[in-house]
Amino acid sequence: MNERDLDKSFIEYEQILEGLKTNFTENWKTKRKPNQSLDDFVRYRTLGTGAFGRVMLVKQKATGVYYAMKILEKAKLVKLKQVEHTGNEKRILECVRFPFVIYMEFCFKDNSYIYLILPFVTGGEMFSHLRRMGKFDEGLSRFYAAQVTLALEYLHHCGLVYRDLKPENILIESNGYLKITDFGFCKLVDGRTWTLCGTPEYLAPEIILSKGYGKSVDWWSFGVLIYEMNAGYPPFYARDPMKIYEKIVSGKYKFASNFGEDLRDLLKNILQVDLSRRYGNLKDGAVDVKKHRWFRSVNWLLIYQQKVEPGFIPKTGSVGDTSNYDHYDEEELIIDKVDRFAKEFADF
Ligand code: ATP
Ligand code: MG
Repeated sequence: MNERDLDKSFIEYEQILEGLKTNFTENWKTKRKPNQSLDDFVRYRTLGTGAFGRVMLVKQKATGVYYAMKILEKAKLVKLKQVEHTGNEKRILECVRFPFVIYMEFCFKDNSYIYLILPFVTGGEMFSHLRRMGKFDEGLSRFYAAQVTLALEYLHHCGLVYRDLKPENILIESNGYLKITDFGFCKLVDGRTWTLCGTPEYLAPEIILSKGYGKSVDWWSFGVLIYEMNAGYPPFYARDPMKIYEKIVSGKYKFASNFGEDLRDLLKNILQVDLSRRYGNLKDGAVDVKKHRWFRSVNWLLIYQQKVEPGFIPKTGSVGDTSNYDHYDEEELIIDKVDRFAKEFADF
């Protein structure tokens, strides 16, 4: 694309983004009521687990549609002080609508659990494919990075900071495009926030140093992600998390030998400890990233419209096929006779 067409397509995209933000803001004003219950779904198997619960494949009895059901245990959320975070997660998942971001279809609760019902993404975690392939070739890394750029730009434009970008939270659709999941740490931030959360390898220096932070942390994690996709391992690594943090705040890391000049330059600008120089965090926001020469071949509108042919399509069988997900021990859901945490979750 020549310079003029490029500018034109950026202006066109800006208008799309404004529309998406208006939509988010409208959704934010309306509160939804629970409209399903556990009995409306057949449960199959666990797709993933985390600190506060698990995600299971389920089928809605009335429609035969498969969903991913995130089950969160109220007692654990209270104990680990995650009630507010889960409230954010639920509200945000209700309101977001973007091609590369998951959203929530239904939500309900009982005496023991909170249930978030999300569209089921068949292709599995980016994490599993990355470990299996070793690393992604540069074209595939760029294709994924472009979608994550648009997703972060969208979320930030809506006033959200995501805070947990990593390959485990990025799922691949059967069509080869991405869906970012896990909004457990996502938050509507007006200015700055202070909570320490995220995953050691992907934490930004300003979080480790307990400074107030904002969307800058997502761009840092984005740099770590681009590095890991292209190298097969993250830029800051040690067995001991404290050692990882030391490396991160020093900002020192080595490029893998296969990294080309453009990729090195992009990473230098994103994995930038100095917030006033970090790409994505400057006055033009995501546009600095989008205009960087590593992304020269990317047509951003065509990516948004999912018209670019993906370099990799995960193997998927029929709808409801779970072969792309690891196996986990199953546990019965034990529902208390009484609701001990009704007050804490009154808003859900
Ligand atoms: P937290 O980080 O807040 O503890 P978590 O990591 O337990 O949350 P998620 O990341 O939301 O929870 O989900 C855990 C795993 O479940 C994901 O890594 C993924 O493997 C699977 N999963 C989540 N959402 C979906 C979905 N919509 N479709 C298919 N699998 C999903
Ligand atoms: Mg997760």
